[in-house]
Amino acid sequence: MTRILVTGGAGFIGSHYVRELLTGGYPAWADAEVTVLDRLTYAGNLANLAPVEGRYAFEHGDICDAGLLARVVPGHDVVLNFAAESHVDRSIASAGEFVRTNVLGVQTLMQACLDAGVPRVVQVSTDEVYGSVETGSWDEDAPLAPNSPYSAAKAGGDMIALAYFRTHGLPVSLTRCGNNYGSYQYPEKVIPLFATNLMDGGSVPLYGDGGNVRDWIHAADHCRGIQLVAERGAPGEVYHIAGTAELTNLELTGRLLDALGLGWDRVERVADRKGHDRRYSLSDAKLRALGYAPMVPFDEGLAGTVRWYEANRDWWEPLKNSAGRDR
Ligand code: NAD
Repeated sequence: MTRILVTGGAGFIGSHYVRELLTGGYPAWADAEVTVLDRLTYAGNLANLAPVEGRYAFEHGDICDAGLLARVVPGHDVVLNFAAESHVDRSIASAGEFVRTNVLGVQTLMQACLDAGVPRVVQVSTDEVYGSVETGSWDEDAPLAPNSPYSAAKAGGDMIALAYFRTHGLPVSLTRCGNNYGSYQYPEKVIPLFATNLMDGGSVPLYGDGGNVRDWIHAADHCRGIQLVAERGAPGEVYHIAGTAELTNLELTGRLLDALGLGWDRVERVADRKGHDRRYSLSDAKLRALGYAPMVPFDEGLAGTVRWYEANRDWWEPLKNSAGRDR
């Protein structure tokens, strides 16, 4: 039996991983015994794990809490860290929590894994640590040049995790991925924000000239990549998980309007995000050499996501009502 600790497992991507793991999505770990540790911030929600309720152990807690980790981490064969403050706009408004969880939290967790002798650790990270690139794609040894407090804090956590490998030999691998979409994504992020605003008869706020480019990936493909790194990645190495659709925000908005049969009169131009990165792009040749290939075509994934939000108002309406029109 493989005993797996998933930190941040009640968030968007972590919960996708846990649902998949507990429903046979990763055959190598079909016998997994799963613990989810999550602080349940505004972004954490046990409803995200409702489809697998009763099939995992839950610890309500903080990855910055060394005492809690000293109790929970020992005995696990694998620790995967999805826990983070993840929304760039919130990091612009207030950065303290981002540094606390994304840097200190990672250090506290790595130390707990080292103390417990955990044989396999995966730290989940983002393409945003590289900053912005006009043309071409980053490979794993590109220099880090983060621009937002979110990405700077993630870069700090990445450096700490790698330092635990280089200094102490902690068997940790890192993954860095592009922009995710899919079901159960908190409706502050652009795809669920736009989709749910449109479903409510409202407008969508489009930043600046709409020319910012993101490389979109379905959370199912991201999690498949993380699983491959957990099973076959080398300690101390970074692996990219690239998207399947490079789109400007204008193009993305057009796809969402088309999916819902609506027009551009629903789009409201708003001032650009401060320090807005223009383009992210990852090369994923290293992970593909391990056998990775994305499986969800963007148009299919987007249509399925829109259908999910249409069918699951009960999940997102309470979140939108508490969050107002955050984006
Ligand atoms: P999310 O905000 O939906 O979920 C984060 C989860 O972490 C929540 O359940 C929250 O309660 C939990 N959490 C936050 N602080 C915590 C703490 N101190 N202790 C314990 N739990 C805590 O984020 P997400 O979109 O699912 O992202 C998961 C990971 O993937 C993050 O590390 C993020 O940086 C990375 N990532 C996300 C994307 C994306 O597009 N969403 C892209 C690349 C990488």
